[in-house]
Amino acid sequence: MNQLLLQQLKYVGLEAKSLTEHSKAMQQLLTLISESYDGNACSQILSNNPLYLTPEQINQLYHQLHQEAYSLEEMIAVTPDLIFIVDREGKYIHVFSQGKEHMLYTPKEQIIGHYISDIFDPLMAEQFEQIIQRVLTSKQLQSIEYTLPIQNEPHYFEMRAMPTGVKVDGVTTVIAIVREITEQKKQEHISRLIATVFEEATEGMMIKNSNRTVIKINPAMLRILEVKEEEILGKRLDYLSKMILPEIKEQITQALHRDNHWQGEVQLQRKDKSTLLVWLSIDTLQDSSGALNNTVFILTDISKIQKQRDKMKHLATHDSLTKLPNRSLLYDRLEHSIASMQRNGQKGAVIFLDLDHFKDINDTYGHHVGDLVLQEFSHRLQHLIRASDTLGRLGGDEFLLIAENIKDRQHAQMIIKKLLTHLKEPFCIEQWEIESSVSIGAALFPHDGETTEALIHAADQAMYAVKKQGRNGFEFYSHKLSYFSNEYFSIRGAIKRALKEDNFEVLYQPQFSLYDGSLTGMEVLLRCHDSMVADIPISRLISIAEESGLIGGISQLVLKKSCAQIKAWHKLTLDPIKVAVNLSRKELSSPTLVETIKENLATCCIGPLILEFEITETILMKSSFTAQQNIKALREIGCLFSIDDFGTGFSSLSNLKEFDLDKLKIDQSFIRDLHESSDDRIIVSATIKMAQQLGLTVLAEGVETLQQKEILEQFGCDEVQGFLYSKPLTGAEMTQLLQSQKS
Ligand code: C2E
Ligand code: CA
Ligand code: CA
Repeated sequence: MNQLLLQQLKYVGLEAKSLTEHSKAMQQLLTLISESYDGNACSQILSNNPLYLTPEQINQLYHQLHQEAYSLEEMIAVTPDLIFIVDREGKYIHVFSQGKEHMLYTPKEQIIGHYISDIFDPLMAEQFEQIIQRVLTSKQLQSIEYTLPIQNEPHYFEMRAMPTGVKVDGVTTVIAIVREITEQKKQEHISRLIATVFEEATEGMMIKNSNRTVIKINPAMLRILEVKEEEILGKRLDYLSKMILPEIKEQITQALHRDNHWQGEVQLQRKDKSTLLVWLSIDTLQDSSGALNNTVFILTDISKIQKQRDKMKHLATHDSLTKLPNRSLLYDRLEHSIASMQRNGQKGAVIFLDLDHFKDINDTYGHHVGDLVLQEFSHRLQHLIRASDTLGRLGGDEFLLIAENIKDRQHAQMIIKKLLTHLKEPFCIEQWEIESSVSIGAALFPHDGETTEALIHAADQAMYAVKKQGRNGFEFYSHKLSYFSNEYFSIRGAIKRALKEDNFEVLYQPQFSLYDGSLTGMEVLLRCHDSMVADIPISRLISIAEESGLIGGISQLVLKKSCAQIKAWHKLTLDPIKVAVNLSRKELSSPTLVETIKENLATCCIGPLILEFEITETILMKSSFTAQQNIKALREIGCLFSIDDFGTGFSSLSNLKEFDLDKLKIDQSFIRDLHESSDDRIIVSATIKMAQQLGLTVLAEGVETLQQKEILEQFGCDEVQGFLYSKPLTGAEMTQLLQSQKS
């Protein structure tokens, strides 16, 4: 409010009671001045003029008044501010809020004539009242910032208040100009946040201006560059650039020139030559005219991430037990070796090592000891090889050694013999002294192959030949080996494939009573539908599965399929009598056999009484401690056991007595010529009598003719199985047979 104006108002005797009145008074003053602007009026004004204004000043005042009178309301309307006139008691006299009603805490009509304390809560009201008092006592402008909730959102305001010099009803008034500063506050908040981020960030940040002078740098960047703020801020020093390799620097310069942007992994080298891997991002910012302005550098230390990546890579390429390269890394290394040997015209050897009888070590001493043996084995090997050789674990008990720069076969042989000698020493693990031997096969580069696959395959074949010859030795690959071991490899491949693709099926061969012809049980027989092994007897498949460690998968599968079939028969209320499953040597010795059987029975909700296991005489005679424990545990839960292929294993019945089994199956080789061979008749007849005396049921296998059947009847044989009665049947065919038996 213009003090001068108020003085003039007083002079013309128009004391304004309100601003509207004031504005009217000004109008009148203007009219008065303009009407009587003839010198007379002026002199009249001047003679009473307490301010002693000059005519020029009066003239100026006229213009000023003229303008203000016309624009006051408009001016208030266009300002972004709210204007309040409050008296010293805190009563609102006037509110100017045209077009800004949304900024009001309470509607305008509830403000005018009311007191501050009517509108605001006591705390807020007290704050405003205090400011009025301060304005009045200091007679100076006072300001305050505060927050008010408007439509449930916090709004920030700045109030500037000053005395007006206008009295209303004799009470002094104060004018308060209120401006909303919410946006500004938000901006401030964001700026503060940005500043904090900049300060606290783990990323190094630096801004340079167009002169390449550092204008901002954060603590993280100072740390990474190993420099103090005062050494770099405001200077054109390029610490970062000095740490980057020249060829990368060149790349960066070109990219910035082209795209104003570059980012990538960079290896920084510190003063002490230590390195640091970072992710660097550089952006050159342009101003509105397109001129290059600031350059922003953001740098992330990714050394830790890199370490993590290296660790993951190590895990993926190394065997966790021995820490040696695994199969995939070995293949990689061999590929590199081949390439380098080819370049340098060198020869090399791929040496395949397989620990002998490792499965037995596992079975006898447990997996924990097995693991320690493998570790010890790998330690020994590591000490025996040259630094340039690569040793890795292919899996299980198979290791591979890649030896470069081998002069000739004799040289390779010398290395292998050294390995054999040292690896023969028994392993002393915990309280055990465990016998050790190894089968080694070797292939020479380029003689036996020039690719990774060919060389490993050849070495594997040579190793397999050693196993076949009784283990504990070595063999070089030769073409002679390939026929014999190719069969092994193709069958092993077919088994793996069939397991994966579910190409195995089980058949059921019925067994009958010779007394009344009734169905007494069935034998589960495996079939493989892989065309590669169509002509291979299933017994050969089983023995290769044993040798190559695949038997576990097969026995799981046979049990699973048989139990599922038994469950299906139960559902059809068919009683499948006894179901006999064959167990191979390794299956019988497996420490997990009993668990696997129990699990399968439980999954299919069937009892153990239905299962019978067939073990050949030879296996039984050579059975390990674990095998005997397994037989005991399974008999305890109610499973039956029969001696398979009896007569082929040179054991006497009295030997078998101690095993306390249930059934004896006379091998088909004795049945085949029964009608012609009196020897066979004597053996079979005696076997039947003795077995029965021992309380065993006797079954004759491979009964193909009526003649054979009649002789067996005469001898008092209990049961028969063979093509005369039935070939092995599919599940569906066996279902039909069971149904016909029932009716
Ligand atoms: P095995 O236990 O002696 O099985 C009886 C074999 O004799 C079966 O051959 C069967 O088809 C065959 N056979 C049955 N009746 C006659 C007949 O009247 N005349 C002739 N010549 N043969 C007959 P398969 O199925 O080829 O099995 C051969 C061997 O493979 C079995 O001998 C057994 O040792 C093994 N095997 C079969 N299936 C499995 C299995 O699931 N697990 C294990 N571990 N071994 C199995
Ligand atoms: Ca059998
Ligand atoms: Ca048999």
